[in-house]
Amino acid sequence: MQTVDIIVIGGGSAGMAAALSAKEQGIDSLLLLERDVELGGILQQCIHNGFGLQVFHEELSGPTFAQRLIDEMKAKDIAYRLQTTVLSIGADKTVTYVNPKEGYVTIQARAIILACGCFERSRGAISIPGTRPKGIYTAGTAQRYLNMENVLVGKRVFILGSGDIGLIMARRMTLEGAEVLGVAEIMPYSNGLMRNIVQCLEDFSIPLYLSHTIIDIQGKEQVEKVVIAKVDADRQVIKGTEKAFAVDTVLLSVGLIPDVNLAKGAGIQIDPFTKGAIVNDHLETTVKGIYACGNGLHVHDLVDFVTLEAKQAGRFAAQDLQETSCEQEMIKVVAAEGLQYVLPQRLNIKSREPVVFSFRVRQPHKRCVIECLDQDEVICTQQMRYALPAEMQRLTLRPEQLQKIHANVRIRVRDL
Ligand SMILES: Cc1cc2nc3c(=O)[nH]c(=O)nc-3n(C[C@H](O)[C@H](O)[C@H](O)COP(=O)(O)OP(=O)(O)OC[C@H]3O[C@@H](n4cnc5c(N)ncnc54)[C@H](O)[C@@H]3O)c2cc1C
Repeated sequence: MQTVDIIVIGGGSAGMAAALSAKEQGIDSLLLLERDVELGGILQQCIHNGFGLQVFHEELSGPTFAQRLIDEMKAKDIAYRLQTTVLSIGADKTVTYVNPKEGYVTIQARAIILACGCFERSRGAISIPGTRPKGIYTAGTAQRYLNMENVLVGKRVFILGSGDIGLIMARRMTLEGAEVLGVAEIMPYSNGLMRNIVQCLEDFSIPLYLSHTIIDIQGKEQVEKVVIAKVDADRQVIKGTEKAFAVDTVLLSVGLIPDVNLAKGAGIQIDPFTKGAIVNDHLETTVKGIYACGNGLHVHDLVDFVTLEAKQAGRFAAQDLQETSCEQEMIKVVAAEGLQYVLPQRLNIKSREPVVFSFRVRQPHKRCVIECLDQDEVICTQQMRYALPAEMQRLTLRPEQLQKIHANVRIRVRDL
């Protein structure tokens, strides 16, 4: 059986950044596997601007950002295979894939980096009542149709969920001549980035109905009507608040879930909150030698943070292969008061590297402080003007701060 030092699964921004970084660390025996016909992943359908401010220090479209990484992959001569779907991976780091040229192949990796991206939640996942006509799409599917196949999926549109993809599609469909009658969001605040609320809804006078949800979809062949209603603090529908809209299309932007099918097959432990793998500060999963990054690990809002995280995964995977491993004393990292989750979930306190924690708050905060504590002792803090659930936050712990930790780490948010 052929053996490769590192196999990267997924050729989106995460997979390419991880492969590039492993190559920079001197790994030549490297192979990236991508099931699509081209590299780039989800970026290829995101034709709007807003990518690259941190990584390239300029504002790029998704395909331009992807092309920069593709050009680097080619310049560094990193091997990749397209139209290659990985069917399974084993805890022994065997990788089985299939493609039209080679058929069904199993190869042995010394390390694997999972960069498989995420799924969109569909109608079935949120159980919207009503009939089952055509005209109901996830926002990402509608985006793919429009930006890659040149097909406008509807003319009168209502959007459920204020995630970024829905907001971006509200603007995109309006620019293409469709009428977007509104966006309903069950939470009392938006789940999208503030810049997208302003640039995609407010600039086009598209109403955002906070604390509202769709309670009925009507139509025989095609969607004809949606009914929305206000919800209370327990997300129960308030009778008498119903509003109906005559539309032919409903777009769903109700959340993304990391694709962990391969990870589960290898026995990797999954975090119930992120729905991605549990990782340590090297982004190594609970199976030694298998790493995870990008939207396949936890859902990111910005490709720049995906890329930075993936670069770390590639570097650590390469270093762990080359070095005799440093002393380890693993402790748990806990998402404490006010946080939905924190990554990494495990931390080696003997590490000599800075650790970047990624986390999301549960609800919006104005003027607050993020605190990293060892039991009750505050190890480091970061003040923030505001923190929103839609925006992933990062906090870096320096090696000298890491040395002060003895028990479990807790990260929390506190209002000032
Ligand atoms: C609509 C939308 C708008 C966005 N807007 C912005 C923005 O304005 N600014 C910004 O910074 N970020 C934005 N983002 C976020 C950013 O684009 C993504 O977070 C990032 O590109 C995700 O990269 P990834 O590599 O983790 O996942 P993906 O790009 O999804 O790549 C995963 C890859 O893995 C492959 N794959 C999966 N399973 C297998 C398998 N079994 N075998 C082989 N290959 C496999 C897939 O085909 C895919 O190519 C947006 C995202 C979306 C969806």
